[in-house]
Amino acid sequence: MQHHFIANGQQPSLSGQTLPVIDPSDGQVFDEIQRGNADDLNQAVAAARHAYDTVWQRTPAFERGRLLMALAQAVSARTDELAALEQRDCGKPTRQALADARALARYFEFYAGACDKLHGETLPYQDGFSVLTWREPHGVTGHIVPWNYPMQIFGRSVGAALAAGNTCVVKPAEDACLSILRVAEMAAQIGFPPGVLNVVTGLGHEVGDALARHPGIDHVSFTGSPRVGTLIQQAAAERHAPVTLELGGKSPQLVFADADLDAAVPVIVNAITQNAGQTCSAGSRVLIERSIYEPLIGRLAEAFEALRVGPAAMDLDLGPLIRASQQQRVWDFLSDAQVAGIPLVAQGQIVDDAPESGFYQAPTLLADVPPEHRIAQDEVFGPVLCATPFEDEAHALQLANGTPYGLVAGVWTRDGARQFRLARQLHCGQVFVNNYGAGGGVELPFGGVKSSGHGREKGFEALYGFTTLKTVALRHG
Ligand code: NAD
Repeated sequence: MQHHFIANGQQPSLSGQTLPVIDPSDGQVFDEIQRGNADDLNQAVAAARHAYDTVWQRTPAFERGRLLMALAQAVSARTDELAALEQRDCGKPTRQALADARALARYFEFYAGACDKLHGETLPYQDGFSVLTWREPHGVTGHIVPWNYPMQIFGRSVGAALAAGNTCVVKPAEDACLSILRVAEMAAQIGFPPGVLNVVTGLGHEVGDALARHPGIDHVSFTGSPRVGTLIQQAAAERHAPVTLELGGKSPQLVFADADLDAAVPVIVNAITQNAGQTCSAGSRVLIERSIYEPLIGRLAEAFEALRVGPAAMDLDLGPLIRASQQQRVWDFLSDAQVAGIPLVAQGQIVDDAPESGFYQAPTLLADVPPEHRIAQDEVFGPVLCATPFEDEAHALQLANGTPYGLVAGVWTRDGARQFRLARQLHCGQVFVNNYGAGGGVELPFGGVKSSGHGREKGFEALYGFTTLKTVALRHG
């Protein structure tokens, strides 16, 4: 049985209610979390405020850095344990779960080093004045985390917020709380003061909604669906609290005839099958220059057919989806595509050992997908790759920019001028040329435009979002 983690202590829900924790590999309940509500959240916000006012605000930046570095080391020493928790909770193959645990340690390490390098400026002004800016923490920050990369998203958001001098209240996704609760406990063990990092578990429309509305939360960092992102922004607007929204994507990879296809094919396949396609930056559309369309579809089909799906512990290419409703969502998209006559070119295999009660979905390649069809416009959040041919660069750009989203794009070409032209004209937050994702890149700012959200997480840039700028003008004499 798991508990909320408030002021460095475990606490049951005030209501006494709990929620089941389900293993996506077999659909069986194996643990329970607390079903928190607004009352539990109030306690966490009060603890975070007290910690901010009495301790954290006065803790020198280098001391915050030391604590974060100690947490990075503690996580590094326990990656196997954290990965095992995440694997069971989220159905992640072992390699993915371990990569996520290592990334969590890297986020804490990066932000540990950044704590004492965040500073303001002095500004030229009129004679007789000295003007300077200070970067100050917001105070208490709220973090609503999704289930697809709990450790990574917790690490990037909370790591930066703590480094900038805030205290935090975290609401993990109801499907994926275990690793986050364990890391909060580890933070307490290595000396984070009580109330600096608090975790309240429960449902989105209960605890999440209460967090977005809470007058004691000075900034909300939300990662999740555009639908809920809108609700969060509306709730925060009521009290004019700033928000960072990291929402979904329908990210394209543009493949030109001069591309190195040997390099591109495995990256394109991985970009949509990693974490069973449940990745906000998944490369879910591949746009292919007409002259290489047929041969590239052939190579992608071969790669898709070789993919194996099974229980997380088997560490195959793909594990299960997170839950039955997510599986149903993918089936609905695929059946719409079938009705529209979109050719299903290739699928991977679900292994015989996969329990029927698990939430499995074979990776699927669709060809000749009309750009206006729902499956080419909306986020499936499953392992479904939509291929569409293009005639020339202008057409490729029009297709790439032609969805409501703008998170990431990949460009595959050897033409240097085209690389720069497209990097400029693609309407999104990150462009990868002859790669995709740059291996995760803790240092690289990440976020979207349009319905993919606003604000940036990761890298040094995230620290600016977790601070507010104060301008001080001193008149001499
Ligand atoms: P979701 O929006 O339903 O849930 C995300 C989080 O919000 C969860 O913690 C959930 O409990 C909470 N929540 C749900 N309803 C809420 C409400 N009314 N008020 C406050 N909080 C609420 O999304 P999901 O199904 O958990 O995740 C999948 C979606 O998230 C996809 O669209 C995906 O693209 C997006 N996502 C984006 C990123 C990114 O970095 N841009 C990362 C991961 C996931």
